[in-house]
Amino acid sequence: MKKIIFATGNQDKMREIREILADMDVEVVSMKEAGIHADIVEDGSTFEENAVIKAKTICELTGEITLADDSGLEIDYLNKEPGIYSARYMGEDTSYHIKNASLIERLNGVPDEKRTARFVCAVAAAFPDGSVKTVRGTMEGRIGYEEKGENGFGYDPIFYLPEYGCTSAELSGEEKNKISHRGKALRAIKDELK
Ligand code: IMP
Repeated sequence: MKKIIFATGNQDKMREIREILADMDVEVVSMKEAGIHADIVEDGSTFEENAVIKAKTICELTGEITLADDSGLEIDYLNKEPGIYSARYMGEDTSYHIKNASLIERLNGVPDEKRTARFVCAVAAAFPDGSVKTVRGTMEGRIGYEEKGENGFGYDPIFYLPEYGCTSAELSGEEKNKISHRGKALRAIKDELK
């Protein structure tokens, strides 16, 4: 079976990625499973640039096809913050309970129609011949008024989906993958890999 490395150390993301790529005849391994411990500096200025940096670095190290994603939450009222800094917002080690409370507080008094936000996911595929492909997926929603739901991770409990009447943390994994930024981007990159 062909092997593809997914350049992430995030177990939550790996779980979603494995579910989405399950129908492909490939073995998807994380950096850790591939025995790679690289500290990659994500100094790009867009989601795409960061995904390419990660994918290319690991592909060059291993000689294997490597996928990488870079994702985050853009809140329109906060000029698209935290954006590419979503994981680093208030510090990597700060709990999401605190990060989510901070964002809700910064939107205090902001009405529904101005609470628009989206999750963005760029996925890059780096190939051993040096070529690179990138795709982007988004999921539109609004920032809620309190945390709701136990599924998902990160900012999911405050990401309200008006058409579903719940947050993305209240969806099952399968339901989220169907509509999520990461699901859309991974399905698009699947087409590029075929
Ligand atoms: P990175 O892509 O590893 O740089 O980090 C993306 C960060 O954006 C995550 O650590 C979360 O804070 C946030 N994020 C990305 N996708 C999701 C999602 O599906 N749900 C909740 N938070 C997410």
